[in-house]
Amino acid sequence: MLQRREFFDTPIEYLKGVGPQRGDVFKKEFSIFTFEDLLHHYPFRYIDRSKFYNIVELNAEMPYIQIKGKLTRIHSHGDKRTTRISAVFSDHTGSIELVWFQGLKWIKNYIKTNVEYIVFGKPSSFNGKINIVHPEIEESSKAELFNGPSLTGIYSVTEKARAFGLDTKAIVKLQRHLIASLPVFIQDIFNADILQKHTLMSLREAYVNIHFPKDELSLRLATRRLKFDELFFVQLRLLRAKAHRNETYKGKVISVIGEVFNTFFKNHLPFELTNAQKRVLKEIRIDMGTGKQMNRLLQGDVGSGKTMVALLSILMLIDNGYQACLMAPTEILANQHYISISELLSPMNIQVELLTGSTKTAKRKVILQQLSEGHLKIIIGTHALIEDRVQFSNLGLVVIDEQHRFGVQQRAKLWMKDGIAPHVLVMTATPIPRTLAMTLYGDLDTSVIDELPPGRKPITTTHRFESARLAVIGFMKSEIAKGRQVYVVYPLIEESEKLDYANLFEGYEAICQEFPLPQYSVSIVHGKMKPAEKEAEMQRFVSGKTNIMVATTVIEVGVNVPNASIMVIESAERFGLSQLHQLRGRVGRGADQSYCILMTGIKLSNEGRLRLKTMCDTNNGFEIAEVDLKLRGPGDITGTQQSGIVDLHIADLAKDRAIMEEAKVVAEEVVNKDYKLEEARHLFIREKLMRLDKEKTNFSRVS
Ligand code: ADP
Ligand code: MG
Repeated sequence: MLQRREFFDTPIEYLKGVGPQRGDVFKKEFSIFTFEDLLHHYPFRYIDRSKFYNIVELNAEMPYIQIKGKLTRIHSHGDKRTTRISAVFSDHTGSIELVWFQGLKWIKNYIKTNVEYIVFGKPSSFNGKINIVHPEIEESSKAELFNGPSLTGIYSVTEKARAFGLDTKAIVKLQRHLIASLPVFIQDIFNADILQKHTLMSLREAYVNIHFPKDELSLRLATRRLKFDELFFVQLRLLRAKAHRNETYKGKVISVIGEVFNTFFKNHLPFELTNAQKRVLKEIRIDMGTGKQMNRLLQGDVGSGKTMVALLSILMLIDNGYQACLMAPTEILANQHYISISELLSPMNIQVELLTGSTKTAKRKVILQQLSEGHLKIIIGTHALIEDRVQFSNLGLVVIDEQHRFGVQQRAKLWMKDGIAPHVLVMTATPIPRTLAMTLYGDLDTSVIDELPPGRKPITTTHRFESARLAVIGFMKSEIAKGRQVYVVYPLIEESEKLDYANLFEGYEAICQEFPLPQYSVSIVHGKMKPAEKEAEMQRFVSGKTNIMVATTVIEVGVNVPNASIMVIESAERFGLSQLHQLRGRVGRGADQSYCILMTGIKLSNEGRLRLKTMCDTNNGFEIAEVDLKLRGPGDITGTQQSGIVDLHIADLAKDRAIMEEAKVVAEEVVNKDYKLEEARHLFIREKLMRLDKEKTNFSRVS
C-alpha cells in the first residue's frame, strides 16, 4: 500500500488507464500532474442519472438534462471538410436538433440512426427552436455511466482532451480507479476537535463523495469540506505572510504626537471629526507606534472623509521627522488633493508639492532634489511618484488613494524604496465585499469609516426612461434656479469609442440648447482633452462658473463639488454597479438634498434592471458591492492582476462567505501558535501547503 504522501504525489501517468500519452494531455489541457491534482478536478455539476426528460418538456432555461431516443437524421455540413454535424433526435414526444462543431471525426464514426441513445446536455434556443450544442451522447445499451449511484458528476473537458478519448465518461472511469486506490487511511490536516466543531467530513470521505456522492447530504458535506480546505489555505497564506512581515520588517516608529499635528488639530481643523474618523485615526496611530510596519486598508464610502484622516496621519509622520507621500490614480484627483491639502496647511507654512506626468521638467528637478535631500516633507502625485528617479531621504508613510487602480506589484515596489519599508495606508471608496477583502487584502489590517459627516442627507435615486426627459430637464432647471449645479455623465466604453463620443457630443449640444447662454453655462470634460484643458474646464465648474458639467467617467473618482446636487447618468444600464455608485457619490456632499437620476432606454436586460433597482433601493456601498459580486463574480471585480490569488477550484467568493469566516478562525489559531508550521501537529498542513505552493508563484512577498 502506498503511503499517503506518495499517493498524492504520484505522477498522473501511473494511474491505471492513463499512461504517457494521456498523461501529457492531462498536463497540457488540465494542468493535472499528480493523483492529487486529479482528485481536485471536481465535477462542475451533478445530474440525476435516473431522471429522463421528454423532448416536449425542454426549454432553453433548463440546466443540463438527459433525454433518451433515436437519431432520425444525420447531416454533415461543409464542402471539402466537415465543419458541423447536425442530427435530429426524437423520442415519443417530439424531436430536437443536436449540433457538434468540434470533435467531428469521432462523432461521425460514433453516431448512427435507429440506435437508442442517451443524450446529455444543455438545451439552448436557436432561431426560435430548441437545440443542444455539443451534447454527450452514448448508446443506451452500453451506458456505463448509469450503473452507479443516481447522482453522477460531470467533468469539464476540452476538445483536445476529447480527441484523445478523455471525455466526461473517461474521466469518470479514471476517477473511479483513483478513488478505488485511495489509501484506506488519509491523515487529515485537521484534528478531530476541529472536524467536529466545524461540521467537517473527513478528507477521505469528502474525496469519495465529491466524485461519487452517496446521496445529496454526503455531497453537500463533501462540498463543504473541500471548500473549507481551499479557503483555509487562502487564509493561511495571507496570515502567514503577515506574521512573517511583522517579524521581518521593522517599521518607522511614530513615538510622538508633536507640534505640527497639535497646532493643526487645535487651530486649523475646519470641522469636528466624526467618531469614525477619530477611531480610525487612533487605529493608525497605535499601529505606527508599535515599531512594526503598518499595512492598512482604509475603507470608507464616498464622502466619508478619508482625506482628512490621511492628512492627519501625514502630519504625525512630519512631527517624527519623516516624509510622506499621497498617491492618487489620476492627475485630476492628485491635483484636487494637492489643492485642498495646500489650502488646509496654508496657515502653517508647510511646503506641499505636486508631482504628476505633466509637471514641468525644471519644476520636477527641484522637487526631486528637495525630496532626496529631505527638505520637502509632503508630496502628492500620481504614479509618477513610483518611478525610480524619485528618491526620498526618509519616507515614512505612503498613502494610496483609490488603490484598486494600482497593482500589488507597484505597492511592493513603492514600499521598498529606501531600505526600511514605510507605513502603507491604502484608501478605497470602493466597498469591497468582505470575502473579497479577506482574500485580496487578508494580509492587511483594515479600518472602516462607517459614518458620514453630520448633516448629509441620503441621496434620492430614481430611474427614468427617455420619455421622461422633459421632466428631468425641468427638474434640473429648478435646482439650478436654486443655485445648485448638475453633472450629466455619459458612458464611455473603449470598444465603441467613436459611437460613445458621438453620444457625448450630441448630448452636450442638446444640453447647450436646453440651457442656453447667457442664463446658463455648460462645461464639458472627457478623456481626449489635454490635461490642462480638462483642468481648466473642471475648475470652471468647481468654482461655480458653470451650472452643468457634461462629462465621461473621468469625473468618477474623488472630484469634490459640494454645491452639485444632481447627477444624471445617461445610458445608465451600460455602467457597472460599482461605477454607478462611485458616480452617485459625486453629489450629496453638501448639506442639502441631492439626487441621482438614472436615464435608460426601454430595453433592459434582467441584470441591467437589477443593477438599476439596487441603486434605487440603497445608498449603502457594501450592499451594492455584494450584489455586484454576485452579478459579476470575483474575477471581474478584481481584474486579472490579482487573479493568481483567487485560484479556487470549488469555493466561491460570492457565496461562501460563512465558510471563509470559519476557515479564517481556524487559520488564525494555527498561525498565532506556529506560523512557521514547525510543530508536529501541523506537519500535514505544511506538506499540503508546500504542494500548493509548488503550483503557483507566491504572491505573499509582494503584497
Ligand atoms: P472621501 O472619503 O470620499 O475621500 P473626502 O475626504 O473627499 O471624502 O471628504 C468629503 C467631504 O467631506 C469634503 O468636503 C470634506 O471636507 C468633508 N468632511 C470630511 N470630514 C468631515 C467632517 N468630520 N465633518 C464635516 N465635513 C467633513
Ligand atoms: Mg477621496
